[in-house]
Amino acid sequence: MNNTGLPKVILGSGKDQSLRRFHPWVFSGAIRKINGEAQEGDLVEVYSDRNEYLGTGHYQDGSIAVRIISFSRFEPGAAFWRSKIKNAYDYRASLGLTANPQTNVYRLVYAEGDGLPGLIVDYYNSTAVVQAHSLGMHRHRQEIAEALKEVYGEQLKAVYDKSKESLAGRYAEGLSNGYLYGSGGNSQVSENGNLFSIDWEEGQKTGFFIDQRENRKLVSSFAAGRKVLDCFCYAGGFSVYAMKGGAAEVHSVDSSNTAIKLTDRNIALNFGEDANQTSHPADVFDYLKGKDGEYDMIIVDPPAFAKRRDARHHAVMGYKRLNALAIKSVKAGGIIFTFSCSQVVDRNLFNGAVTAAAIEAGRNVRIMQYLSQPPDHPVSIFHPEGEYLKGLMLYVD
Ligand code: SAH
Repeated sequence: MNNTGLPKVILGSGKDQSLRRFHPWVFSGAIRKINGEAQEGDLVEVYSDRNEYLGTGHYQDGSIAVRIISFSRFEPGAAFWRSKIKNAYDYRASLGLTANPQTNVYRLVYAEGDGLPGLIVDYYNSTAVVQAHSLGMHRHRQEIAEALKEVYGEQLKAVYDKSKESLAGRYAEGLSNGYLYGSGGNSQVSENGNLFSIDWEEGQKTGFFIDQRENRKLVSSFAAGRKVLDCFCYAGGFSVYAMKGGAAEVHSVDSSNTAIKLTDRNIALNFGEDANQTSHPADVFDYLKGKDGEYDMIIVDPPAFAKRRDARHHAVMGYKRLNALAIKSVKAGGIIFTFSCSQVVDRNLFNGAVTAAAIEAGRNVRIMQYLSQPPDHPVSIFHPEGEYLKGLMLYVD
């Protein structure tokens, strides 16, 4: 123990280097010993083998043993959380996201990218949805909700905790999602002037894939007059933007009936019932068979094919097969927007899979643009693992 009363994690010799470079993870193998009793979820202080303080973080059983939430000593309590949330808010304000009537949906806290490993907070037009990815972070949910209220003031109507799906093990079994503050709230948001109805209680992730905002805008700007296919459409984000951009026709495909209903609802919200768009509940791999040369533009935004390193090979094969099908399905002069959100498949590996797909399809393909995640999903320069969304905009001859 030490004078803060927190358990003291002491690293082995030479194991302090990554923390000194502000990388926020301590792997279990780097720990020499722990003074005091550290239970899963506890705050602990981390020291070098020469007894130098390195940081304070949440302890967890598993390969990442400590996630650092501060590289300097602090008094745990309201002021700490307020300053962290305020810092994340000010950054979004500098991006023009906090007072923009056209866009009132954005990510407020992106875990390591905002110095808060284990915490996601998404803002949906006056409701904040909190998702904890570590038990330690979840224990602070009330303080986080209080900090959100202070930073937003009257503007914030509700805070919803949606951590049941993101936390593992027995702790999660005993949890239920629910409001930490307020209730309901306005579930209609605007993104670049496009309207979306969001269901954070029942929807995937926190309710919407906010990370595709900039890429959706790009799709919109190339959609005019094109016959567009939106694969893995979920709530129809890309479909709505393609329609807004003047697409001649849009087909939206998802294997989930709930997703198809969301897409239909969002299309109707923006374009009424007679829009030139149709939704198809189907497996994309099946849907694309036999569609050779049918579309002028295809969006391919699948769920993560690999969540763990050992699934990487399988994922790469999946990206290759999927992209080969997509490349075959566009006309000459067609455009493909293709993505991977698997963290363990890096940009090189993804580009390799798409190259192999182009070879298999036997078409000439040019890379028009490299695509990424938007600035409200910032990557700490010391934690490159935070970059997960990568994509390619392709021109197919
Ligand atoms: N493009 C969406 C997000 C996609 S999330 C957006 O911008 O909001 C991934 C979606 O893929 C989910 O809705 C899931 O239901 C769907 N999905 C997963 N596997 C599928 C498959 N094999 N065929 C069709 N859809 C699938």
